[in-house]
Amino acid sequence: MKIARLVLGDQLNYQHSWYDDTNDDVVYFMAEMRQETDYVKHHIQKVVAFFKSMRSFAVWLKNEGCEVVYYQLDDERNQQDLVSNLKQLIKEHSIEKFEYQLPDEYRLDEQLKNFCNELEIETEAFDSEHFLTSRTDFTDFFEGKKQLVMEYFYRNMRKKYDIMMLTAKDPEGGKWNFDHSNRKKWKGSPAIPEEKQMKNDVSNICKMISNAAVKTIGNIDIDNFHWPTNRKASLDVLNYFCENLLVHFGDYQDAMHTEEHFLFHSRLSFAMNSKMLHPKEVIETVVSYWRNHKDVIDISQVEGFVRQILGWREYMRGMYWKEMPNYRTLNKLNNTNSLPDFFWTGNTKMNCLKHAISQSLDKAYAHHIQRLMITGNFALLTQMHPDEVDEWYLGIYIDAIEWVEITNTRGMSQFADGGLVATKPYVSSGSYIHKMSNYCKDCVYKVSKKETEDACPFNSLYWNFLDEKREYFKGNQRMSMMMNLLNKMDKTKLEALKSRARAVIANPDNY
Ligand code: FAD
Ligand code: SF4
Repeated sequence: MKIARLVLGDQLNYQHSWYDDTNDDVVYFMAEMRQETDYVKHHIQKVVAFFKSMRSFAVWLKNEGCEVVYYQLDDERNQQDLVSNLKQLIKEHSIEKFEYQLPDEYRLDEQLKNFCNELEIETEAFDSEHFLTSRTDFTDFFEGKKQLVMEYFYRNMRKKYDIMMLTAKDPEGGKWNFDHSNRKKWKGSPAIPEEKQMKNDVSNICKMISNAAVKTIGNIDIDNFHWPTNRKASLDVLNYFCENLLVHFGDYQDAMHTEEHFLFHSRLSFAMNSKMLHPKEVIETVVSYWRNHKDVIDISQVEGFVRQILGWREYMRGMYWKEMPNYRTLNKLNNTNSLPDFFWTGNTKMNCLKHAISQSLDKAYAHHIQRLMITGNFALLTQMHPDEVDEWYLGIYIDAIEWVEITNTRGMSQFADGGLVATKPYVSSGSYIHKMSNYCKDCVYKVSKKETEDACPFNSLYWNFLDEKREYFKGNQRMSMMMNLLNKMDKTKLEALKSRARAVIANPDNY
């Protein structure tokens, strides 16, 4: 029986059981398509990284002895949409059965389900064999629970996979969470190792994208494209992280700095989200490295890292499949403003935003706290429409795929899901940014000032936000301290703060 197997661009799982044997009756199909380049305006580095990684994967498959049909974006056979391409493939190769791996995006899941329903040949969907939970494990775990608390989910995952456990019930190190030690500001030391260099010739791909007039955002330096685009390079990045960055990962996880883009972060999200690396192998490699270097690496560094992958990453995926498609329309705080132009240029006097956005445009990367407490914080305080915020995050980051982007953006960052992901909104005044970064030092605004013309805009925006959303947060225990402070605030002072905030919201590009 002649079988066609589809491999999507984020299904580059070199270890999938599909590839355990070669079978002359199987043809693998991969395609670079306008359907994927155009559903949102992506960062140029993101498009390049996906295409380059897909091409490396196709070469590997061929070397393994598999038959591969690969459409480049400029291939004249390419119909540029998945269904038309598959129909053509099935006809041309007299395919009798169609097989695919379950996609991680709702959009593609629906498209493939509908396609299969209409097909007259046999079809079969396979697991992508990537995640540590199934699509429904999350819903089963939280069955009957009022709140979907990540910490409980994470502890259960630690037990289930026996990761850093002393006994079946007790965590190594005597506690589950070392978050409180991950709060250091980086002040120039310890030295940050150089970015891992990689050889990647992406000039042809860039030329092709440009010839096809694909609309992208951001910048690319084709001589310095340092994203891993095959399995070996992905493993190199993982080892580089263990050997050079893990030692301080937890300590400086929340730190931000004008001169350092990556600090001690792993930059593994693209390799994992494209499935070139399996989350379990990442966790096991890191834990094993720590076990062999306990004299220099503290448990808090490694636990912080494990929590992000075993906890947050799987939690976000579970939330996505539980709540979609409704999730993508949620706007519980009724925010309606538009993103300022400077989100696309970095052209603002607010130094923290200028750095976080310019870096995102140049590197297709910002670390978690930059995404959450700089750009996300500003977007929420200025009450931007979550659709616009989502679109920006989905486009700009190298690792942005909807299942993990939307839950982080609409949920954790914008509180548009009304608190499904986060129990309180991640908002702050300038003081948090000042505490965790050196951004305020060279800013034209004064972080210590509140309502004056030269005051940090985050300060007035913060109190204005709490005041405007007062009704909404009335019953939220975690907000009660801030709400009490707001209630006690002198009315004239509050009005002065609100007046400044209104001016910023009316014209953010002026600041
Ligand atoms: P590290 O800091 O080294 O962390 C290690 C790994 O942990 C990451 O590679 C990632 O796989 C995982 N991880 C860490 N935090 C999270 C999280 N909150 N959710 C899921 N996984 C996590 N991550 C994406 O992969 N894709 C996105 O589109 C995305 N969008 C985000 C949008 C917003 C508004 C926010 C606040 C966060 C977003 N994140 C997203 C989560 C996080 O910021 C990135 O995973 C991280 O910055 C990637 O860089 P890194 O690999 O150096 O991560
Ligand atoms: Fe950002 Fe305010 Fe600090 Fe300027 S003063 S860098 S606007 S937090």
